[in-house]
Amino acid sequence: MLGYKLLTPGPLTTTESVKQEMLVDHCTWDTDYMQITQDIRSGLLELAHCNPEIYTTVLMQGSGTFGVESTIISSVGKEDKILICSNGAYGLRMCQIAESASVPYMHYREAFDTIIDAKKVAEILENNPDITHVAMVHSETTTGILNDIASVAKVAKENDKVFIVDAMSSFGGVEIDVEALDIDFLVSSANKCIQGVPGFSFIIAKTKEIEKCKGKSCSLSLDLYDQWLHMNPSGKWRFTSPTHVVLAFAKAMEELQKEGGISKREMRYRKNNALLIAGMKALGFQSYVKSAYQSPIITTFYYPENKKIAFMNFYTYIKENGYAIYPGKLTEAETFRVGNIGEIYPEDMEKLCNMIGQYMDTEYLYNV
Ligand SMILES: *Cc1c(COP(=O)(O)O)cnc(C)c1O
Repeated sequence: MLGYKLLTPGPLTTTESVKQEMLVDHCTWDTDYMQITQDIRSGLLELAHCNPEIYTTVLMQGSGTFGVESTIISSVGKEDKILICSNGAYGLRMCQIAESASVPYMHYREAFDTIIDAKKVAEILENNPDITHVAMVHSETTTGILNDIASVAKVAKENDKVFIVDAMSSFGGVEIDVEALDIDFLVSSANKCIQGVPGFSFIIAKTKEIEKCKGKSCSLSLDLYDQWLHMNPSGKWRFTSPTHVVLAFAKAMEELQKEGGISKREMRYRKNNALLIAGMKALGFQSYVKSAYQSPIITTFYYPENKKIAFMNFYTYIKENGYAIYPGKLTEAETFRVGNIGEIYPEDMEKLCNMIGQYMDTEYLYNV
């Protein structure tokens, strides 16, 4: 067994008890299993502060991208047009999804260090009345920037647009009142802030919007409407479900409740993140995102100006000391990323900063 904790944005470090759940082989058609699926679905609505008479949940096999793709190709019809707001790789991925499925779209592209501007969205909507949907990422895991979904939701709703949010790396770790924001579709996945393992994504959506998805998807397996139609009455998945992942996720949701819900988890993540940024700053590592926009999920760091550090060497040193960090995803600057979500506590952040401090002191050992 490899002995390290993941400081990555998902898959992330899970508890022993979540991993234990996967030691059971469960059949998919019996009533207990279907009930577990139903409990997950209703539990997710509670976490999202949604009235079950207005909202519903669909679980979709695959990683997070499958959920985003399913939502876009099932909700945006041939006569519709989606405005995709991007300031990172995951926003750009939505454009790729639209491209590959020939979904009509328009792209509002922002720099990676700048948040999506609701005023610009309003202007675009005014000049392009054919736009029917607006999509954006909440926590852009590419950099760690946290977009302001509330301001964009307001503009989208004032203009009567369907509003889609990729809250993959924030849902469960940052409070989101989906109903108050009037979000139509919110997508997240099992292996991020709920602290489960990879294997499915979930879509929290207004029932009336899911009903409008009928017949729009150009894909069979990613058809959100069909998946919902099968799952909604009984909890039966349309095709083979990731049983072990589902059991682990049910446990992870129970553990989130025990921790005190999303607000308590958010406090832990914020504390982790603040310690990390302060500790790294003291060692000469500046973060890429301005503090006002920094998410409590993941942080992009520049290398110190006067030191030359090779990522693989740095990574290996940290791994040998019990943690896995993440490469950067910027083209314009050499960076790396550190996630602070999952079964990670302030003492992990302190340990990490201490070991990086030691690396800096014995840097000659590790430099190429
Ligand atoms: C993780 C993530 C996704 C999904 O990526 P997968 O590799 O398909 O799991 C999408 N959007 C954001 C913001 C993410 O962090």
